[in-house]
Amino acid sequence: MADASFEYARPNPADVVAGLEAVRGQIRQAAEDSERDPASVNLVAVSKLIAAEGILPALEAGQRVFGENYVQESKAKWPALRERFPDVELHLVGPLQSNKAREAVELFDVIHGLDRLSLAAALAKEIARSGRTPKLLIQVNTGDEPQKGGVSPAQVDVLLAECRDTHGLAINGLMCIPPAEDPPSAHFALLARIAARHNLPILSMGMSADYPAAIQMGATHVRVGTAIFGARPARTG
Ligand SMILES: *Cc1c(COP(=O)(O)O)cnc(C)c1O
Repeated sequence: MADASFEYARPNPADVVAGLEAVRGQIRQAAEDSERDPASVNLVAVSKLIAAEGILPALEAGQRVFGENYVQESKAKWPALRERFPDVELHLVGPLQSNKAREAVELFDVIHGLDRLSLAAALAKEIARSGRTPKLLIQVNTGDEPQKGGVSPAQVDVLLAECRDTHGLAINGLMCIPPAEDPPSAHFALLARIAARHNLPILSMGMSADYPAAIQMGATHVRVGTAIFGARPARTG
């Protein structure tokens, strides 16, 4: 099984509610600072490696959009939570192996990590089979880092065309994770330019350390984990 050796983090419920409130406030502030409607920024609460009891306080405080990184972990946690909160919107923000495309299409409403044609083919097959149509974002490796997922900025146009023409897939937006050592704004600006060129409405960018900057550059979805749920365990396998 892909169940790796890790323990879920079990944050204090009051801390989760306070973290969520603080992030909501910062989103509002960043949006107002750049003269954007705060409602145009969607908070994806990234709950990877957080136990279901740690996610509940966020659900009870009205948060409905969540992000996860691992298909198996999501299958273990979310069906029961969704029974209680059927209007949850679940995003897969981590990398996806083609052999998990079926489970991913069944479980997720938005998939952020499309970065290669073989995965597009696997997703297209499962979308046709299931009749489910998750939104799809192409991940762009804006820093061209060899160890990181995502398609090179120079290859985005080709991948987009192939997704559409070869596989009939509608692509809804772009996602990026800037290099840790760079100031992020130039990467966010690059992603925004590519999205504008292709009329793609969704811009998924910004994490706990840099989501106000991402909002300034036009993010429609910020993916925030630590600032809401606190530190999480390192995943070791
Ligand atoms: C873990 C993760 C996040 C959340 O990161 P934080 O720094 O905890 O906010 C966002 N996006 C992706 C792709 C992630 O893997």
